[in-house]
Amino acid sequence: MTANLLDFDLEGLAVFCEGMGEKRFRATQLFRWIHQRGMSNFDDMSDLAKSLREKLKVHAHVAPLPILSQQISKDGTIKWLFDVGAGDAVETVFIPEDDRGTLCVSSQAGCAVGCRFCSTGHQGFSRNLSTAEILAQLWFAEHFLRKHLHQTDRVISNVVMMGMGEPLQNYSALIPALQVMLDDHGYGLSRRRVTVSTSGVVPMIDRLAQDCPVALAVSLHAPSDALRDPLVPLNRKYPIDELLQACQRYLAHAPRDFITFEYCMLDGVNDQPEHARELIALVQRHARDGLRCKFNLIPFNPFPASGLLRSPPSRVQSFAKMLLDAGIVTTVRKTRGDDIDAACGQLAGDVKDRTRVQERIAQRRASPVIPIAPVSP
Ligand code: SAH
Ligand code: SF4
Repeated sequence: MTANLLDFDLEGLAVFCEGMGEKRFRATQLFRWIHQRGMSNFDDMSDLAKSLREKLKVHAHVAPLPILSQQISKDGTIKWLFDVGAGDAVETVFIPEDDRGTLCVSSQAGCAVGCRFCSTGHQGFSRNLSTAEILAQLWFAEHFLRKHLHQTDRVISNVVMMGMGEPLQNYSALIPALQVMLDDHGYGLSRRRVTVSTSGVVPMIDRLAQDCPVALAVSLHAPSDALRDPLVPLNRKYPIDELLQACQRYLAHAPRDFITFEYCMLDGVNDQPEHARELIALVQRHARDGLRCKFNLIPFNPFPASGLLRSPPSRVQSFAKMLLDAGIVTTVRKTRGDDIDAACGQLAGDVKDRTRVQERIAQRRASPVIPIAPVSP
């Protein structure tokens, strides 16, 4: 089997090139062809010596993920469903905004954490994605969008590890993928524009601080262990106080001077005034130890199996106001792409359910005319 070059960060690629008897600097050229130019055919990499191209053809390949579907929302959000084999699929979402383009990337097929309000969690855990499978999402999206938007510059300015899966439970594949995102010879994104979102794997938050301190978002969702335990089962292992202490330690290494807390607003569950009061007290207690944070309230995206409902907008607003009045910076996340099930927590990629995939493809065909050519399913 030949090596998939999407599996390597620059250092890994240099070692691979050395293994073929090549100089390390060849790796930089190769890396730039792949990530900056989106090339996968070695013959097109014109400044590489012919002898190297011949060796690469024998020992290496650049493998994209097969695309099962592409859907485009009325608001311009694009969702791709990628086949990762054995009946598993993962989703990647591009969210265009005036001043940025954000790609939401998956780290696992399914998720073992099993949060009650998350459809990926309900699906269970299938497997970790490889570095190549994580990067293939960015590699494809960036170069596809450049081509179809007729842009030569970068289209994706931000990456959030907020797709399917718990990135910090796939740590060894995640780190090289992050390195490639940050590398000036790769995607050249700044640390503050790459965000890892976690449900709170405390020891891995500390390791991330050492290995690759990008922006950190933590899915809090509740002000107390009693409420968080049933919502985010990982809380039983790493309770809130431990988690917030890890966040505070992370700040010493973080590219921003705050941690973002995500809080999914669930009707009648965690959205009452007493929850806001408890949350304010929690944040203030940890602020005394140096924790600085912002809150991002996410209106829950319902799915039938959850048995949960979205908080009404007025409740989200009054919850936000209570936090703001207490001096906590708080935003409410705009829901994007919900007409194509691309909103947070709606990502469900079980291709064993072929009917659902067929339905999606049919939906895509029926979707409004868009300036981007559809790919074949
Ligand atoms: N596993 C990581 C990252 C993926 S989930 C994590 O949990 O942080 C990305 C974000 O979507 C998390 O904040 C998660 O809590 C939120 N989310 C999951 N399901 C949701 C749903 N149905 N509605 C709204 N947000 C949801
Ligand atoms: Fe996993 Fe995050 Fe979903 Fe929880 S919210 S089940 S950690 S993907």
